[in-house]
Amino acid sequence: MDNGCEDQGAPFRAPPLATVALEREGTRARRLLAAGEWRPEPADARAAGAVLHRLTAPLPTRRGASARTVATDRDRRLHRILRSAVHHLDAGAVTPAAAAVLAATARALVPWHSVPNPPPAAAAPRFGLAPGVAAPTAAGEALLPVLTALFTDLAAPVPAGSGPLTPPAATREVPHAGRFRRYGKPGYGVWTAETVRCAGCGGKDGPWTVSCDWRRTTLHCDACGAATTDHGLAPSEVWLLLPDV
Ligand SMILES: [Zn+2]
Repeated sequence: MDNGCEDQGAPFRAPPLATVALEREGTRARRLLAAGEWRPEPADARAAGAVLHRLTAPLPTRRGASARTVATDRDRRLHRILRSAVHHLDAGAVTPAAAAVLAATARALVPWHSVPNPPPAAAAPRFGLAPGVAAPTAAGEALLPVLTALFTDLAAPVPAGSGPLTPPAATREVPHAGRFRRYGKPGYGVWTAETVRCAGCGGKDGPWTVSCDWRRTTLHCDACGAATTDHGLAPSEVWLLLPDV
């Protein structure tokens, strides 16, 4: 009953993790995998294996480590899991079904985009937490068992004698009120950023309705109705901004 008052007294409390999409996609994936209705392609299994490697990485053992060092190690492990999920989502080698799982995983772990260390350049992508807000480390670590089980199943070899079988991914339509930024990294530690314009009216600010079948992402401008497909955005540059639905 008093939780509202307690929350008001904790200005740096981290927001809850965005796990709606992860619960939906993870539950669906594990059901399909268990029923033999999803036998992952080699590219999906390789990507899942790489994420699994990060998920199961032990924390470093450091003699006499300070509490601050241990906290950094815990956040860095979550940071690396997110980076691996984003890398394989954006690389474009996986099937739409696996892309949906990777995007949902990245969405849930987005607070660690800039924790423990944000990208240094001013133009670098800024996803996740506002500066100075603590990451919900314990909540992130609480996801590790379910994520490990999911990616273990995805990375497992398909039974002998049966070829890959990939279920269709559902098309998502999600609103976005603000801008989309396309990032480039022309050199080490150097970032560029460009704001996407509507192909119809040239507007940058939206609001947009994003539709995605995990092969193509289309930005529908709510102001003029035009659809923009040649935006050049990586999947993560869209999905890490969107509401978790
Ligand atoms: Zn427009």
